[in-house]
Amino acid sequence: MNFETCCVHGAKDPNNTTGALAVPIYQSATFAHPGVGKSTGYDYARVQNPTREPLERLVASLEDGLEALAFTSGMAAMDALLSLLVRGDRVIASDDLYGGTVRLFDALAKRAGLMTTYVDTGDIQAVKKALTPETKMIFIETPSNPMMKVTDIEAVVKAAGPDITVVVDNTFLTPYFQKPLSLGARIVLHSGTKYLAGHNDTLAGFLVTDDPSIAEKLRFITKTVGTGLAPFDSFLLIRSIKTLALRMEKSQGNALAVAQWLSEHPKVKKIYYPSMAEDQALAVSKKQTTGFGAMISFEVDSEATAVKVLEKVKVILYAESLGGVETLITYPALQTHADVPEAKRLALGINERLLRLSLGVENAQDIISDLKQALA
Ligand SMILES: *Cc1c(COP(=O)(O)O)cnc(C)c1O
Repeated sequence: MNFETCCVHGAKDPNNTTGALAVPIYQSATFAHPGVGKSTGYDYARVQNPTREPLERLVASLEDGLEALAFTSGMAAMDALLSLLVRGDRVIASDDLYGGTVRLFDALAKRAGLMTTYVDTGDIQAVKKALTPETKMIFIETPSNPMMKVTDIEAVVKAAGPDITVVVDNTFLTPYFQKPLSLGARIVLHSGTKYLAGHNDTLAGFLVTDDPSIAEKLRFITKTVGTGLAPFDSFLLIRSIKTLALRMEKSQGNALAVAQWLSEHPKVKKIYYPSMAEDQALAVSKKQTTGFGAMISFEVDSEATAVKVLEKVKVILYAESLGGVETLITYPALQTHADVPEAKRLALGINERLLRLSLGVENAQDIISDLKQALA
């Protein structure tokens, strides 16, 4: 099945006797056994649920993985991921990351004895230099949040060798534009809250892997701690993924139009969007992705302009998050990256003039008119 067809038809109710097109919401915490020592395949919903299971199969197939696990949020997935490591292990992570991920590494993971080295993973020499015998995982966001830096996944996999697990947060591009497992990564992470759910109404997270032993360890974690996605939210995700391809295309079309318009505006000083990156990053994008996505960061001429834009937008909403049908604008320095130490934040370019747009599926001209009046 091709990607779009899989989005529409890839989740099936294993017990369908009615012909219903939608996978039902099996709102049941427990399942009766047909006999002693016998099971329908479902015992207790912390372990598995017949609405969550088809969703997990769907996401696994979209990412070309063997297994996917659905979590209550992207951060719950992140926390499960770090449970694969033990005290004394070291993670090399991209230096530009979602702020919540930095908080998890610097607060909780550190307390559990895990060390993190942040490097520009776009620079393969820097990745190689950071490798130590304790390094067990390399965690990449590409494009990164919010500076849209691109990392060559295949090159990192090669530098890592067989004993280090390469993990890619694929939230920004989704498998519609990028398939990290096919490029050699072992695990893909998603904030399913973003494009996969796509409507700014549900939190969800995913881990996808092509390694059966990793899948087994992760299943043990969800079964033990109970961070699996609830039946209703699983239903919403299945429903949303049906239109993933359509939404990604439309959002990207809007992003291309808006990036072009912004690049000609006198108050816009810099644009961070993969199609407008310098040659090397652009070549990596073209090699490993089938699109540039719909996230744009841009720097305006002053903090006052940035604040004015946030207060004047009407169609665009000033809100955290991304990847939904509504176009959102955020202020990374005050919102997603408020917990990143100031010196580090500024060194990365996340200053008080930086804004981040997540393009939705509205009419591009309406978004441009809104930005025009807000920047005036
Ligand atoms: C939002 C986000 C997360 C965290 O996911 P939640 O669903 O909010 O817990 C992780 N990574 C990236 C890139 C994100 O945008």
